[in-house]
Amino acid sequence: MVSCGDMNPFDAELQRRLEALREQGLRRELRRVDSPAATRITIDGRTHLNFSSNDYLGLANHPALKEAAIRAVEQFGAGAGASRLISGSLAPFHELEETLAAFKGTEAALTFSTGYAAALGTLTALVGKEDILILDKLVHACIVDGARLCGATLRIYRHNDLNDLEEKLKWATKNRPQATSRILIVTESVFSMDGDAAPLRDLVALKERYGAWLMVDEAHATGLYGPRRRGLADTLGVSGRIEIQMGTLGKALGASGGYICGSRALVDLLINQARSFIFSTAPVPAAAAAATAAIHLVQSDTGRELQERLWARVAEFSAAAPPLSPAPPSMILPIVYGDETRALQAADTLRGQHLYVTAIRYPSVARGAARLRVTLTAAHTPDDVVKLVAALNLLTP
Ligand SMILES: *Cc1c(COP(=O)(O)O)cnc(C)c1O
Repeated sequence: MVSCGDMNPFDAELQRRLEALREQGLRRELRRVDSPAATRITIDGRTHLNFSSNDYLGLANHPALKEAAIRAVEQFGAGAGASRLISGSLAPFHELEETLAAFKGTEAALTFSTGYAAALGTLTALVGKEDILILDKLVHACIVDGARLCGATLRIYRHNDLNDLEEKLKWATKNRPQATSRILIVTESVFSMDGDAAPLRDLVALKERYGAWLMVDEAHATGLYGPRRRGLADTLGVSGRIEIQMGTLGKALGASGGYICGSRALVDLLINQARSFIFSTAPVPAAAAAATAAIHLVQSDTGRELQERLWARVAEFSAAAPPLSPAPPSMILPIVYGDETRALQAADTLRGQHLYVTAIRYPSVARGAARLRVTLTAAHTPDDVVKLVAALNLLTP
């Protein structure tokens, strides 16, 4: 390693910051994978069993998605060339949005380059300085960042706590800067780092009582929940009462991109005012084509079989490791250590046995809430789950 003395002042300063992160157990680094991102991944020439992917149905390497992507490259090229409003909007994006709206049962849909961009663009388009934004304490960083960027007054309610949310709604109703000020509540349906679910039915009833709008991020539910696999809101029968349904095409749908589903007016407004949509080059057509194929697949018998397989793996895990059981039904299984360094050591121990489980630390979760975040997928075998449980049982929690 180069010592700080040999560095220019800029790099020396950054090196000091990186060292501070390392001392707190918060330094992150990239680990190169020389294989497809699947349940078995190659790191340093060794095969590891991967329990950290959000590719919950194993679609990222499904032949139907790969074929759709290859066909789109051949037909539409490798890149889109410009923003969709500048040089015309390629057909694969329209096919995807029509497929997505039909799948979600909404009037319309709009896709973004990522879920992160969808959150940022949507929040800044819908609310501003005169409005009030109320967030669940555990919402994803993209919602927190969008909330900061949009300039609305921000209130945070305790995680999944409807009483606290009602307090915030009462406060917001009394403290609207103007009569026209809007109140927008944002939650996830299944939470990314804890795997628990929001009480969506009660939340919808509450927001209606206060005349607030609701945005629900289904990043970890779309494709997975309910007889139609549309997500948790549909499963609970409330999707028609949620103004803004958000999600990603990069997790259970195995492709890449973010989406907003809702009314035609919502989508038209976003096309006009979501800056992350307007001022960004359209994604590669192959990503849209792969996502479209994924949505068709999810709705088919294959989708049902993959869903059943995923929940079978979760049930096997719960039966074998009851103290670690997830908030059912979820494929996200957090094993909370608290201390950052101890979570890192646990991940290192597992990696020594060629099991890849990432230690999740601040700022992905709160300081002192570090954890192993195990995720199961439909592509895992029963034997994979047995191996994982055996290794977890040997860790000192
Ligand atoms: C991953 C994630 C996003 C961002 O989606 P990307 O497509 O990965 O940018 C948004 N919300 C939640 C809850 C997520 O977990």
